[in-house]
Amino acid sequence: MIQFIDSHCHIDGPEYDADREEVIARARAAGVTVMLNVGTGDPHSGAFERAVHLAEQHKEVYAAVGVHPHDAKLWDAAAEGRLIALANQSSRVIAWGEIGLDYHYDHSPRDVQREIFRRQLRLARERNLPVVIHSREADYDTIAILGEELTAYERAGVMHCFGGSLQMARQAIDLGFFISFAGNLTFKKANDLRDAARQLPLNGLMIETDCPYLTPVPYRGKRNEPARVVETARCLAELHGMDLDEIGAATSENFKKLFLIENQESPP
Ligand SMILES: [Zn+2]
Ligand SMILES: [Zn+2]
Repeated sequence: MIQFIDSHCHIDGPEYDADREEVIARARAAGVTVMLNVGTGDPHSGAFERAVHLAEQHKEVYAAVGVHPHDAKLWDAAAEGRLIALANQSSRVIAWGEIGLDYHYDHSPRDVQREIFRRQLRLARERNLPVVIHSREADYDTIAILGEELTAYERAGVMHCFGGSLQMARQAIDLGFFISFAGNLTFKKANDLRDAARQLPLNGLMIETDCPYLTPVPYRGKRNEPARVVETARCLAELHGMDLDEIGAATSENFKKLFLIENQESPP
């Protein structure tokens, strides 16, 4: 059976309150055997507890917890304590993230973003958890900080919704990262991104939806959902001159290697 893994989605949010179980069922029907649901938002709002709870309710869903660079200014001791407790207590939490730098929106001051990024990299490393990195218009600082904080760290993590340069992708791979492509890979104007994706080694790649955002072609304009990761896989398959099932298998294998999870193909 053809298999895909959505390495980054946000299906715990209110966008899916009306039909979350159907969304998960459609993913399953499309061959999506695993979804990494990334908790995000104000760390004091209960958003992370919600993400972990969803993962505990569904065998296909895992959770990541970490404060997004947008919310770095909301970090405090209580937030830190809450995240540590979730990461320690639930075996469904397999990653720390999404963390990183976003110089496009600058919702938090850049010095605060950098400080909270470093702090969370250390917390993840103490727990041997791979990190999920969000980096937007911050290539240089992201790579510099990762290089300083993650020396000799085996299962480093994944650069999610990759939109940087080929050079940045190669630097990240050298640091032990995987590169995950989202639906924007399929966008008409994304020639540079497709060029980079074509030149990267298959054993360094993953796919994701980042849903509800970044709905791939030909579904642009609609709400995104994990089943649509197949469209990004299709695009990547064309770029690498491979069959869809081969891309699905290769990117799934990469995910399992990083996050050390078992195969989810058989029902419980
Ligand atoms: Zn992100
Ligand atoms: Zn995200």
